[in-house]
Amino acid sequence: DDSPYARKDIKSSVSRRDSGWDDTSVYNAKKKNYAWFQAPDGNWELAKIISVSGNESLIAFSEAKVTKVQSDCLLPANPEILDGIDDLIQLSYLSEPSVLYNLQYRYERDMIYSKAGPVLVAINPFKTIPLYGDDYIEAYKRKEIDSPHVYAIADTAIREMVRDEVSQSIVISGESGAGKTETAKIAMQYLAAVRGGSGIEYEILKTNPILEGFGNAKTSRNDNSSRFGKLIEIHFSEIGRISGASIQTFLLEKSRVVQCTEGERSYHSFYQLCAGAPPSLREKLNLKSVHEYKYLQQSNCYKIPGVNDAEEFRIVVEALDIVHVSKEDQENVFAMLAAVLWLGNITFSVVDNNNHVQPVIDEALLTVAKLLGCEAEKLQIALSTQKMTVMDETIIKRLNLPQAMDSRDALAKSIYSCLFDWLVEQINKSLSAGKRQSGKSISILDIYGFESFDVNSLEQFCINYANERLQQHFNHHLFKLEQEEYIQDGIDWAKVDFEDNQACLSLFEKKPLGLLSLLDEETTFPNATDMSFANKLKQHLKSNPCFRGERGKAFTVYHYAGEVTYDTTGFLEKNRDLLHLVAIQLLSSCTCKLPQIFASNMLSLSEKPAAGSLNKSGGADSQKLSVMLKFKGQLFRLMQRLGNTRSHFIRCIKPNNSHASGIYNQQLVLQQLKCCGVLEVVRISRSGFPTRMAHQKFARRYGFLLLDHVASQDPLSVSVAILQQFDILPEMYQVGYTKLFFRTGQIGKLEDTRNRT
Ligand code: ATP
Ligand code: MG
Repeated sequence: DDSPYARKDIKSSVSRRDSGWDDTSVYNAKKKNYAWFQAPDGNWELAKIISVSGNESLIAFSEAKVTKVQSDCLLPANPEILDGIDDLIQLSYLSEPSVLYNLQYRYERDMIYSKAGPVLVAINPFKTIPLYGDDYIEAYKRKEIDSPHVYAIADTAIREMVRDEVSQSIVISGESGAGKTETAKIAMQYLAAVRGGSGIEYEILKTNPILEGFGNAKTSRNDNSSRFGKLIEIHFSEIGRISGASIQTFLLEKSRVVQCTEGERSYHSFYQLCAGAPPSLREKLNLKSVHEYKYLQQSNCYKIPGVNDAEEFRIVVEALDIVHVSKEDQENVFAMLAAVLWLGNITFSVVDNNNHVQPVIDEALLTVAKLLGCEAEKLQIALSTQKMTVMDETIIKRLNLPQAMDSRDALAKSIYSCLFDWLVEQINKSLSAGKRQSGKSISILDIYGFESFDVNSLEQFCINYANERLQQHFNHHLFKLEQEEYIQDGIDWAKVDFEDNQACLSLFEKKPLGLLSLLDEETTFPNATDMSFANKLKQHLKSNPCFRGERGKAFTVYHYAGEVTYDTTGFLEKNRDLLHLVAIQLLSSCTCKLPQIFASNMLSLSEKPAAGSLNKSGGADSQKLSVMLKFKGQLFRLMQRLGNTRSHFIRCIKPNNSHASGIYNQQLVLQQLKCCGVLEVVRISRSGFPTRMAHQKFARRYGFLLLDHVASQDPLSVSVAILQQFDILPEMYQVGYTKLFFRTGQIGKLEDTRNRT
């Protein structure tokens, strides 16, 4: 895959995360045992050890291929009884191949959900699997099924919310196309089915087509890719019924409105409108077919296989009705979409000897003016001039072609993102519904995962910073839960160390010399360039162990999930995200409702100029929070909210890049497991006493191996006698009130003996 967006092989920054986590030096290759052997292509294959001599083993693969290998290249395979177990921490021998194999074993049998200790792992099936719907919901509700499932997670969240009176959260992560949004919807469906009743749950479910219509797009990695992060908080009444909800969104990708790569699409909403608008609306908005709009033409992709945009338009309109957006407002919304499309068709002509330009008065310009409700001349001025304040004097600057095109695109992007925010606000008004609430809620977070491309820009920088924060939440949370389970069963437990990512977070957040502060400082300097920004980082951060300066305009950050090199090209401009004052003034003077609202929202977002520094230096003519500052604020509020909840984690995994069912690419899965910390959590969960078995079950399974008669037949005595007979060292297990707790590999030994008998 040679597209610039191809995922780079993410090198693990921590050498300890090698393929074998268990101490493999204690593993003696033994005749007849099964072991993992890594083929030259990096894939692991299961082999049977035929004979061992010295340091060498003769191994046989399933296709009767026999090879001689160094014994220390082998990793022990788990006993067959563990094939496809539903929780990875129960594996006796823990290694990358055994985890991969176990997940694959399940995936091939349509068991797409597995547990990794407290975390649910969901592998995208890329096909319909019969695991959903009323019967399954009922079965999970009644606890008749206990295999891992999103339903089980949602059910636990409800139970714990009611039982402990603590708000809950379900944090879903994974890379693009891994299934986060689908998983979030599955969780919402469960909550609605089990805890609905008032009808508001129906409205909540109907927010999905709206948010997806306006915030999702076809990308090279996912035909329905969410281009924003989303937290939906579902509120419950005192009797534990859904009473309302609120939605918070993060960082909509605005650039897609004005430019997108070959083969991708802009937001679904544009195509839906063009395909589905009824004739009267079409006429009002002077709507053409998608092929006639420049913004949509550039990627040369108009259709998504299997998707009917006209039908989707109908679904979105119905959903807008349900969340109480009036017909009049709906029309306003569609007028903004049409205005954005027509803005893209506005062209410019040179009007003087200094290459200054002016928009051509044509159908495009006149239609935009009409849709926004402004005079054509005002629109012309807004797109071709810039107002600046220098030494308290206002100067009007005329723009050249690239500048004018930028100002046109900036206006289009602003209108679209304001429209998106406005819609979310309307949804929130409708969902808050003013019912009495218990103050308890279940929040579902569907947010972009860690990203590492060949070229990484400000977007990846923000996303990976957010993931760094979420990872810390993950660590702290799981650490606490683990501890609680030991305490409940009366077990002594020495603390285990987590892979702490505080150093990397400090690299971002330290003041005044962290990545974020330095970025914002540089953003406010009018003469700063991407190069001066890169140099500043190198100058101040070169000794930071999580940072490495690169040649030219780049720098590298050692994230918990691997190293990522960022290219600072465009960082400052994207961070400023300026909409010129003239444009804001234009919007506020429009006679249509939405442009006015957008303008006032933009102005209220603006920061009070810090002693007018920006204006005086003549750099910019509108004051605004930088993208990064705004995002950081949102992220802090998000972390605060999550901090007040008990979190449940779902890690979505994409098994292949071709969106195909039944294909399981080991290397791809492995990378993702590393990135989202699943392997780490398995390792950590196991460094305590990960194998747990109730006394009864243990006594039943291994009791027959006892050589001496045990006086008492109670499960606890039988269990203790077994432990003694097998010389299981006291530090290898703990006897809890209800369960035996074992360290890694102990059950494997007992199983081996049991199988040989
Ligand atoms: P992005 O980050 O790009 O938004 P995502 O993680 O939200 O990606 P989804 O849009 O949820 O990914 O899933 C991508 C596609 O995978 C879906 O459109 C659907 O075709 C398929 N898919 C995901 N989960 C399931 C599932 N549980 N059952 C069947 N198909 C699924
Ligand atoms: Mg999504």
